[in-house]
Amino acid sequence: MRALPVIIMGAKGRMGATLVNLAENDPCLTLGGLVERPERQEGLERYGCPVVADVQEVLGLPGAVVVDFTAPAVTLDTAAKAAVTATPVVVGTTGLNKEELATLKDLALKTPIFWAPNMSVGINALLRVLPDLVKLLGEDYDLELMEIHHKHKKDAPSGTALKLAECLAHARGRELEEIGIFSRHGIIGERPKGEIGVQALRGGDVVGDHTVYCLGPGERIEITHRAHSRETFASGALRAAKWLAGQQPGKLYTMADMLG
Ligand code: NAD
Repeated sequence: MRALPVIIMGAKGRMGATLVNLAENDPCLTLGGLVERPERQEGLERYGCPVVADVQEVLGLPGAVVVDFTAPAVTLDTAAKAAVTATPVVVGTTGLNKEELATLKDLALKTPIFWAPNMSVGINALLRVLPDLVKLLGEDYDLELMEIHHKHKKDAPSGTALKLAECLAHARGRELEEIGIFSRHGIIGERPKGEIGVQALRGGDVVGDHTVYCLGPGERIEITHRAHSRETFASGALRAAKWLAGQQPGKLYTMADMLG
């Protein structure tokens, strides 16, 4: 079987470097191109594939899939260029606003695009079972969420925290915009029933911790997911790349589509 060429955006980044290392050692994949800002490209030539500053330069590679963990504006630019050549794109970038997500959805009509704010199997399994737990516990249990990430992370709360909070809100038949609260300070009064609090902590080199709290009368449940390394996200993204290579454009694919 021919190895699938992958083009890694942001190849020197925390996620990009992890993706490059995993892809290099995966016999089903081959490095088709590394895209990085010119001032950060040093050392990338050792991988023996094209190293460029603009993804456009490597999009002609037949059968390639792009993997992008960068920043919202870069990701949208990548997806727009990839749509022209109908090159599939796996997006791990978080912090996209509503308009940016809508643009990504539009581009997914032209080329296969997969987006997941968290590529780990554990978080996606948690997303699957959380609605059942919330419904079983009922309205008397207050739902809260806390996340911790390394000090370099640019967006808050994390994309994963937003996805988990959205999952909790939907389990209650509500939208997160209606009942989510993202900071508390001062004389805030009694907690309104149904509110979902989301708190973001930042510091050190924490890869990513998320805890969902179900706080009830006389007891509480705490469910914590801790990512031990970035490899869990990178291997999920490379699995998505292999899966996406066989998909048609038409919708913005998610982990739920891949995991079935
Ligand atoms: P990072 O800052 O370490 O890496 C980003 C890289 O992109 C940098 O090397 C930067 O130079 C490069 N870059 C910037 N502009 C570019 C351009 N125009 N062309 C090519 N490269 C460019 O960030 P990170 O910690 O690797 O995180 C990147 C994104 O991935 C963030 O949005 C983060 O939240 C997200 N993330 C998602 C998951 C997931 O499972 N979906 C997991 C971890 C991180």
